[in-house]
Amino acid sequence: MTGPVFVFPRFDGNPLCADADDPDLWFPEKGNTAHAAKNICSRCEVSDQCLAWAMEHEKAGIWSGLSETERRRLRKTAPRRYAKPIRHGTDAGASQHRRRGEDPCPSCTRAAAAALAARQNRDQCPVCGGWMLKANLRRHMTRRHPDAQENVA
Ligand code: SF4
Ligand SMILES: [Zn+2]
Ligand SMILES: [Zn+2]
Repeated sequence: MTGPVFVFPRFDGNPLCADADDPDLWFPEKGNTAHAAKNICSRCEVSDQCLAWAMEHEKAGIWSGLSETERRRLRKTAPRRYAKPIRHGTDAGASQHRRRGEDPCPSCTRAAAAALAARQNRDQCPVCGGWMLKANLRRHMTRRHPDAQENVA
């Protein structure tokens, strides 16, 4: 078999599916029921860790007794608990914090401020609509739109 090698997550405890006779139970074909897998998951000692892992990783199959669809639903109904992990230190991370109703952490705050400054140092050409550093706009106008030069302060 080729393709990416799936590395089973490391849990602190014994994942029942790891020694199951039929691992395919956790990957039921469309239309087949997942009851057998779900049953085993319900007795598994690492199902909490398994759920936390599966909520972050978007893997196919049954994890912690939940199908992909069920996990997607859970992400919606409990977004603050199960949203994707925040990418700290980025402008997008700052937005993720705000969507969760919390203040961005210091590194996300810094990144958001830097992104804003970068945006503000940019300007759009009034003629062609291209974005560029403010400092380059005058030269751009001279070169690309010589007739429109007088419109730029
Ligand atoms: S909860 Fe289910 S899928 Fe998760 S480790 Fe246990 S048996 Fe495997
Ligand atoms: Zn952050
Ligand atoms: Zn232009």
